Amino acid sequence: EKVAVKDFAEKIKKSSNEVIGKLIKLGVMATINQEIDFETAEVIAKEFEIEIEKNVSKVEEKQDLFIEPDDEKDLLPRPPVVTVMGHVDHGKTSLLDAIRKTHVTEKEAGGITQHIGASEVMVEGNKVVFLDTPGHEAFTTMRARGAKVTDIAILVVAADDGVMPQTIEAINHAKAAKVPIIVAINKIDKPGANPDRVKQELADRGVVIEEWGGDVISVPVSALQGTNIDTLLEMILLVAEIEELKANPNRSAVGTVIEAELDKGKGPVATVLVQNGTLKVGDSVVIGTTFGRIRAMLSDKGKKVKQAKPSTAVEITGFSEVPEAGDQMVVVADDKTAREIAENRKDKIKEDQMKKSQRVSLDALYSQVQQGEIKELNIIIKADVQGSVEAVRQSIEKLSTEKVVIKAIHGGVGAITESDVMLATASNAIIIGFNVRPVSGATALARKEEVDIRTYRIIYNALEDIEAAIKGMLDPEF
Ligand code: GDP
Repeated sequence: EKVAVKDFAEKIKKSSNEVIGKLIKLGVMATINQEIDFETAEVIAKEFEIEIEKNVSKVEEKQDLFIEPDDEKDLLPRPPVVTVMGHVDHGKTSLLDAIRKTHVTEKEAGGITQHIGASEVMVEGNKVVFLDTPGHEAFTTMRARGAKVTDIAILVVAADDGVMPQTIEAINHAKAAKVPIIVAINKIDKPGANPDRVKQELADRGVVIEEWGGDVISVPVSALQGTNIDTLLEMILLVAEIEELKANPNRSAVGTVIEAELDKGKGPVATVLVQNGTLKVGDSVVIGTTFGRIRAMLSDKGKKVKQAKPSTAVEITGFSEVPEAGDQMVVVADDKTAREIAENRKDKIKEDQMKKSQRVSLDALYSQVQQGEIKELNIIIKADVQGSVEAVRQSIEKLSTEKVVIKAIHGGVGAITESDVMLATASNAIIIGFNVRPVSGATALARKEEVDIRTYRIIYNALEDIEAAIKGMLDPEF
């Protein structure tokens, strides 16, 4: 690090001539524009009886939070957190209602159902937490933001309708997140119900249930009549046990925002799922880029609580701005630390927005592979007919080389939707469409998230492009 004589003189409030004079005394012949190093500057400064410090001109890389990992011995079992997914109208909402109805007593609920985004039910003395927003959109939005809140996915499939496009999406989203699936074959009360057909269709999609030699548990249910809801809950406990879900209740809390909004009376409110540690009223927290001190906590039953243990959802108030679903909440030592970290993050976001993001694209693929940044290319295939999806999947995966493995993580019939883009964001994938186009919302979202969408009419052209990209010979697309 060097400094020009005139700048140095200005800094120590001396004239350039005085500085040059001292330099000459030391045997250094210098002009006012000449640069001197720190050691020389230090000696000169001493001559004037001035202490100088190395001026680190770059903005110091500020530390974000470091979350101390837990010692194995401090970990205790925690309740499972469950999300209900499946095709529209297959009974996700009804199933959640049925579960709540049978397992939340009126007294607990206090008559009024408080909506905080999650609900707890007791099953044979064990707690199970359900996220209230059914569907895989919420699930994937969170995952795209780096949050993993779900331990188990309940896949609802209507027995009279079978596996449908959103069923397949849900399966692929759960698989991409490595979350175990329990299948609830719903509407078995209906005359047209055909559970065997559902099982067959699921098997075709790689979800092979136990009866058929696979490892996926399935339960026939009727959300409407309350049939087998208890069995389904028992199966959740069983899977939870296999998963060995654990957390350390004796530490400061870490969690994730499930929902957040601006309440007219309370100000910013958020429902957070505490995932580790115990959250207490009065704790200083950082939530994404916002911060504050927990003023009040409400349980899912609308009761005021003073603390929340792992796998508990609580509505909290007391912070400056409305956070986003998927934001991480971390308890820190004090308000000052919370503010500093939140502000650093805001600065960093601004900085990052200036830089170009590191998303995978066919154009950049070759250099990313060469630099070892990518070893797996995830692809989402959308086409007008199922036959094309399968054909592309098979041919594309064959293009894998020693350096890059190509994996079709999702394939489906129909336009490219926002949900496809969210999955691509969460899995760092590119989207390939055949004779289909993105819906306008998907185009906008893809632009924002910088997801590469390519559309083709001929399969061969897509294969050619991918092969060229791997070999670094793709012509830039204009
Ligand atoms: P969602 O879109 O997946 O949340 O589905 P809903 O829970 O809104 O259910 C869609 C429709 O299916 C509603 O009319 C429900 O009453 C009906 N439904 C849900 N579960 C059952 C069931 O077990 N049996 C019958 N017969 N109808 C059901």
